[in-house]
Amino acid sequence: MPVEKQVNISEKWVNELIQNFIASSPLNMIHNENKDPAWEMALVGFSSGADQIWQQYKEYVGAFHWTPWEVFNQHCPEENVSADQLTVISWILPQTKRVRETNRRAKTYPSEEWARIRVYGEAFNVALREHVVEQFKAAGHAAVSPMLVPNWTIVKSERFSYASSWSERHAAHASGLGTFGLCDGLITAKGKAMRAGSVVAKISITPTPRPYADHRAYCLYFADGTCGKCIDRCPVRAITEAGHDKEKCRQHLVRSSEYVKNTYQFEGYGCGLCQVGVPCEDGIPVKAAREALERGELPPPPPPLA
Ligand code: SF4
Ligand code: SF4
Repeated sequence: MPVEKQVNISEKWVNELIQNFIASSPLNMIHNENKDPAWEMALVGFSSGADQIWQQYKEYVGAFHWTPWEVFNQHCPEENVSADQLTVISWILPQTKRVRETNRRAKTYPSEEWARIRVYGEAFNVALREHVVEQFKAAGHAAVSPMLVPNWTIVKSERFSYASSWSERHAAHASGLGTFGLCDGLITAKGKAMRAGSVVAKISITPTPRPYADHRAYCLYFADGTCGKCIDRCPVRAITEAGHDKEKCRQHLVRSSEYVKNTYQFEGYGCGLCQVGVPCEDGIPVKAAREALERGELPPPPPPLA
């Protein structure tokens, strides 16, 4: 859409764009009888396209993992940008208390509500990515959602079984929103029961501080050697003290589709048993890290759902 004047985009503008869509879009729904919302209000963080962490991901995950500049430049080459002209906007969509409670009772396969979130909640997350990109463009700023570009792909990886050209969890970690747990999930101020999304835009917003020196700082197992509750929650032993076996987990997700179809009568899948009934379900379980958040070293928690 042509614009006469470029709108100056601030952190507040982006936050309101995302929270308003969550609060008002009819797509934020799990399509059950009650028409329950899929998500609580989001945590939002920002990181610079020139942050060294993107290069570190490339070295650690693999050369196939894009930097923000790589994915932006592939899809908006006419913008001719340098990495420091880009900002990554990342968000966390926390699961609602009600849905978390249903999945806490699950022993092998997901609750109906959780499986609905996996399908309809992620469809909302796709719509949110599209909405953010469209609104940036309407305001005169080029933007790309890395998960929605046609060449986003999953790659076989010797170190990780498989990995992808862009990871929403890694973008969220770079944007100050959380650290990884023993089960590979990202533990955020709103816990690990969540899904993440991101957009790369040609705008300048001050990066959100990363108040963690270590990429596993919020997990009790790595902080003080305790917990390991996610090991017991996993029905297929895909989590051990050695970490997360992605292939075992993937096979269980494949099996879950049959269960969801036969039991809940819709095409879906899911698991997430390791995300609930654990100390990191809805917050940061490591006291020192949580207290750092309370001292205001992280963005304030989002407003309650209207
Ligand atoms: S359940 Fe415990 S060990 Fe597992 S990710 Fe959460 S804090 Fe870490
Ligand atoms: S690791 Fe995978 S299979 Fe195991 S509980 Fe978590 S999501 Fe389910």
